[in-house]
Amino acid sequence: MKMPICDTCLKTNTLCKVCNEKLKRREITKLDIELARTLYSIDRDYKLGDITFKKSVESDGLIIMIVGKGDVGSTVGRGGKVIRVLRRKFNKRIRVVEDTDDLKKLVGELIHPARITGVNIVYPVSGDAINKIRVDKASKDKMPIDASVIENAVRKIIKKDIEIVFE
Ligand SMILES: [Zn+2]
Repeated sequence: MKMPICDTCLKTNTLCKVCNEKLKRREITKLDIELARTLYSIDRDYKLGDITFKKSVESDGLIIMIVGKGDVGSTVGRGGKVIRVLRRKFNKRIRVVEDTDDLKKLVGELIHPARITGVNIVYPVSGDAINKIRVDKASKDKMPIDASVIENAVRKIIKKDIEIVFE
């Protein structure tokens, strides 16, 4: 497993100097540490394999875990059994997505099974560009998470402003 903290810190409840510095510099959060330790503690029973857990963001009762390429399945577990453990422990909804800079791919994973029909960038008179994500209106009922929650979370993950519209 590749985790945001070192092996020693995974096994104990204290942080070494290096990991503590990462926390102070806000490269990692307390939530990242708690999630990493939880994954480590259940690895023996749940066989997570060589997954990479990069970071997490929390927004409106939702935790989004960002993992390495191809690691979503192992992190979720067969039939979602790992996610169920995390959901019970953290008492929040959990989504797992692959690490990417591709906005469309990220949002696509978060809104699945609702469908993106297009993305375009809108440049307001003042302020930063907004990525307008058009979602098929017919699939609106299939949104697993509210659009506003996804908008907030995506801003935290890839520091881009997005707006979800149903068309
Ligand atoms: Zn450490």
